[in-house]
Amino acid sequence: MNDENGSRDPTHDLSGAERPATERESPPGDHLNPFEAVNYQFDRAARRIDLPDYLQVALKTPYREVMVEIPIRAREGFRTYHGYRVQHENARGPMKGGLRYHPSVDLDEVRALASLMTWKTAVVDIPFGGAKGGIACDPTQLSRGELERLTRAFVQRIHSFIGPTTDIPAPDVNTNEQTMAWILDEYSKFHGFTPAVVTGKPLELGGSAGRASATGRGVALLAERAAADIGIDIRGATVAIQGFGNVGSWCAHFLAAMGARVVAVSDVRGAVFRGDGLDIEYLRREAGPDRSVVEVGAGETIRNADLLALDVDILIPAALGNVLTGRNVGDVRARMIVEGANAPITPAADLELEERGIPVIPDILANAGGVTVSYFEWVQNLQQFRWPADRVDDELRRTLLGAYETLRASVVEHRISYRLAAYILAIRRVADAIALRGQD
Ligand code: NAD
Repeated sequence: MNDENGSRDPTHDLSGAERPATERESPPGDHLNPFEAVNYQFDRAARRIDLPDYLQVALKTPYREVMVEIPIRAREGFRTYHGYRVQHENARGPMKGGLRYHPSVDLDEVRALASLMTWKTAVVDIPFGGAKGGIACDPTQLSRGELERLTRAFVQRIHSFIGPTTDIPAPDVNTNEQTMAWILDEYSKFHGFTPAVVTGKPLELGGSAGRASATGRGVALLAERAAADIGIDIRGATVAIQGFGNVGSWCAHFLAAMGARVVAVSDVRGAVFRGDGLDIEYLRREAGPDRSVVEVGAGETIRNADLLALDVDILIPAALGNVLTGRNVGDVRARMIVEGANAPITPAADLELEERGIPVIPDILANAGGVTVSYFEWVQNLQQFRWPADRVDDELRRTLLGAYETLRASVVEHRISYRLAAYILAIRRVADAIALRGQD
């Protein structure tokens, strides 16, 4: 379909709409650290909306950074770990973000993830700011008792900086419901029983129905909707998913239930492929943190790098950051990408995907299902009232698809990428809140 100018109707040609309309930008290298990479995306959007200089500085600088040493008693004596909580912005509400246990955790990574949370909560318009935390450790080398002591010792050091109206942690990579239960228990020793201090809790301690599956459900919902907009029917669409943890495995479950053909999934040990579609429920039953997807005989083993280069309709990176870079993005053959993980695509790779017209549904929308249901959990805790699962799922769908439609309108009207549209929307919302609250 042609418009008056003879170009194709943008609502039928996302690849055209995805190309930057005006400026040609020199690509940033892959040398940016994670925080610089998020701020690169911020700068691109801030320039477009002429954000005042003082706000550009304020919104790129975290509100507060807490770094602690955490000694724990271990078999061989004491071992010391480094823990972080970065609180990025709180104009729109208490700060919110996960807690990650991983050897690569450092201040720049936590800053980047905290900043992403500010933009994510603003894109889906839930009344939170952004924060993130982490402990640099290898949880596979820690016993359950050591993990519990590490978590409790971390809370002892940061409890005065978190709370239901200041900063509310949640699970992220290598943390889970049990970690949240320990945090709740330790925090409550100082402040009295306070379930709203964390989300992603077990149901028995005030967790919400639908929280565990929320991020994966959201990624699947958005993949379905965005695919439809570029003419891909999710029924029969081929999908490759990197990462088979909380996000990846739930996402695979929901996509398979929609009729998609999930042809490849992976974990840290490798990837598995089956051209006519993997048996996702079998994989979810048999594989897990102690048994890799490549060990259960679900299909042909391939390299993780090959998964990213598969000729599929939808590629979903749902593991860690920086997996698509300037070096390997040229191998991507997927028709669209949905970011289940946080920051899986470097700015250099992102620009190349834009130029090739491959739409990317960005992390700050695509994986916002988790923080959205965390918000519902927090609301339920404050109200001391339980929502049934179908209410949680309905509200989640409404929130995510509403945000998607808002972004989609901007993508089509301004012929910009979903990521740029998302940052512009988020920055405007945060800047408006700051202006309305006034100075001091
Ligand atoms: P998880 O620890 O449950 O799972 C991570 C998965 O990635 C595991 O299967 C692991 O084996 C795999 N993995 C690790 N390194 C890999 C590699 N190099 N190649 C392939 N696979 C690899 O973590 P999660 O909670 O599923 O989080 C995954 C991503 O989603 C992270 O970026 C996280 O920040 C983001 N995220 C999570 C949530 C949530 O609610 N859990 C919400 C928003 C965003």
